[in-house]
Amino acid sequence: MKIDLLITNAKQIVFFENDQLRTIENGSLACSSGVITWFGPAEAKPEEFEPVETLKASDCIVLPGLIDSHTHTVFAGSREDEFELKLKGATYQEIATRGGGIKNTMRATRKATRDELTAIGLERLRNAIAFGITTIEIKSGYGLSFDDEIKILEVIRSLRSLVPIDIASTFLGAHTLPPEFFENRQDYIGLICEKMIPYIAENKLAEFCDAFCEANVFSIDETRRVFETAKHHGLKLKLHADQLTNSGGAELCAEMGAVSADHLETISERGIDALAKSNVVAGLLPGCSFFLRMQYPPALKMIEAGIPIALATDFNPGSCMTQNLQMIMSIACTQMRMSPAEVVRAVTLHAARALERNDIGNIKTGMKADFALFRAPNYQFIPYNFAQNHIRHVVKNGKIIFNA
Ligand SMILES: [Zn+2]
Repeated sequence: MKIDLLITNAKQIVFFENDQLRTIENGSLACSSGVITWFGPAEAKPEEFEPVETLKASDCIVLPGLIDSHTHTVFAGSREDEFELKLKGATYQEIATRGGGIKNTMRATRKATRDELTAIGLERLRNAIAFGITTIEIKSGYGLSFDDEIKILEVIRSLRSLVPIDIASTFLGAHTLPPEFFENRQDYIGLICEKMIPYIAENKLAEFCDAFCEANVFSIDETRRVFETAKHHGLKLKLHADQLTNSGGAELCAEMGAVSADHLETISERGIDALAKSNVVAGLLPGCSFFLRMQYPPALKMIEAGIPIALATDFNPGSCMTQNLQMIMSIACTQMRMSPAEVVRAVTLHAARALERNDIGNIKTGMKADFALFRAPNYQFIPYNFAQNHIRHVVKNGKIIFNA
């Protein structure tokens, strides 16, 4: 039997059965036509396999390809000057009033041409692949005008044909209020609902709609209006919820059937209860808490309540300037006390749920052959040996797309 790619004698193959992490020691794995066709103990490999390509993996473990389910990858400029000011004690609000923060990046991103943004995005996506990412979500939200939001979403679309990984696209027009609308915020919500969302939906420029629901940014009622419009136009929902202050964002996600509620640093007991009774995935972004020196979301409480947890980088220039999802796994272990098995599940199986994908995020016969080989003795070693990149090979749709 012809096999496109055969991985032999991996130290461990990590997969999930009924949501629980399982391993096969000294495992082999076969894929053909882009899907996993067989995996199991090396000694059980069928004799009749005739692989076109074989990868000896005796110094590696195999995990499902990592999924970064929340990023802001397409932006211009950087904000290391604000980083330094914040270390000296400047607050988020002070920086914002000086024209910094999201608006700083908005100005740089508006100024950048499509070609410039595409080149920036391409370099970053290559970097993401080198960290083991096989599927990534990217949001707009640094344009904040009709033309600039569309420009970012079109750049995201053009990046799809330039990299071998999958990109999910999210419209985040409600990221912050642009300066032109300071005096009439309802007009900006109107622009989002009456012009941007219908155009984006009609031209299939985004799969998800997101908003920054936060005190002094967008209220629950404003978010609900954006969400109702998005839903009406067939977009799925994600939310920056309960990050700096609790405004009931988690409850809104449960009420409106969002795919994920992200951040949740300040989620209330009621919010946990609401998520537990829903199908919403909690998308935790502990890199932000680490970088901003702020409280972490109560991950263990949420796990105890039965809420599926995804972990993502939230790669952005203000609160988490890293693409290293392996480092985020370490932060989740040390700062939120998640177990290594829980963090592996949060960047694979549950991250796939946070993007509503059911053919990735696991190693299973018939699923897409998206996986990553890490140079490690076992999966616990990845978060344990922190701030390293353990990647050796990355496989997408059954093809090797990266070798370290
Ligand atoms: Zn974000």
